Amino acid sequence: MKKTVAFSKDATNIFFHILTNCNLKCRHCYINPEQHGEKPLPPETLEAWLEVFAKKSKEANVIFLGGEPTMHPALSLAVKKAKVLGYNSITIDTNGYLFNDILSKVTPDDVDYFSFSLDGATRQTNDMIRGKGCYDKCIAGIRKAITRGFHTSLIYTVSADNILELDLMATLLEDLRINRFFIQVIGIRGKSAKRGREGLQVSRSEWLKIIPVVAQKIARLGITVIYPKVYLSLDEPFECAGLVAENYFIFPNGRVYRCPLCEDFPLHSKIFKDNILLNTPKINEYDLFELNIPEGCVMNKIIQPDNLSYKNDGTPEYKVACCMLKEEVRG
Ligand code: SF4
Ligand code: SF4
Repeated sequence: MKKTVAFSKDATNIFFHILTNCNLKCRHCYINPEQHGEKPLPPETLEAWLEVFAKKSKEANVIFLGGEPTMHPALSLAVKKAKVLGYNSITIDTNGYLFNDILSKVTPDDVDYFSFSLDGATRQTNDMIRGKGCYDKCIAGIRKAITRGFHTSLIYTVSADNILELDLMATLLEDLRINRFFIQVIGIRGKSAKRGREGLQVSRSEWLKIIPVVAQKIARLGITVIYPKVYLSLDEPFECAGLVAENYFIFPNGRVYRCPLCEDFPLHSKIFKDNILLNTPKINEYDLFELNIPEGCVMNKIIQPDNLSYKNDGTPEYKVACCMLKEEVRG
């Protein structure tokens, strides 16, 4: 069964980048220390910022990210604090190296999901993108987490480098006993922006031909599959999550964005100063959200215009959805 997950103002989702350091150098990494800061957040700041969002919403979900969040020695402390504050769900995104013996410091009662990143069904493809030795380390990390009773997700960022291996993931996911599979689309951000779009982005026809079919196949194995909708027909409604949902992307330098596509630019609409969350002055990302264009997502048009296509009369052939609009498929 496939459904589009509607945006909601009832649930607040916090994407909490607690540091930007990482042991890896993935080819498509979107972390940009110039824009996001270089120093890990001190433990007391982690706690204070979690408190701010817990007070803001009764139903807050937190995803701890980095960099590699398990490199932060206070990650387990932050998890426990989020639990005490009543966060609805707690997720840790990891490249699988699981530093600081994190699996011994938190329990399956504390953490709803460990979400691992793998960008190839084979060692060769994954390690070409993420670095030598990563595939084995990630698989070992997943097995260890499952043995300890944790729920797991796997995130696969699709690019021209690995789209043809997506289909092979079915066997691997089943063998590993993964609960949820997230397919992401490569964004032209961070290192990908520096490298340029050439040869990295997947075409619309490839995306529409491959992704829904593989998603159905994997969902039939009892694994929930979530992937971005990306394209809308002209008669489908478009919504910008920046206006109709409560997503916050927090970085160690205090910047708080509502849109991930804005993260390479100083366009954040909020900022932490002395642990108080303040609005930033104009011009910021909100001014972009409010622009109503026939192509759908404004930021897509600005940074990824190659995703668009026009008719002879100059009108768009389709719209590009908000990057946070997801399809969910269950078997
Ligand atoms: S593991 Fe994540 S943060 Fe680290 S280099 Fe790869 S994409 Fe970037
Ligand atoms: S990706 Fe586009 S539609 Fe979504 S929040 Fe950003 S600007 Fe709005």
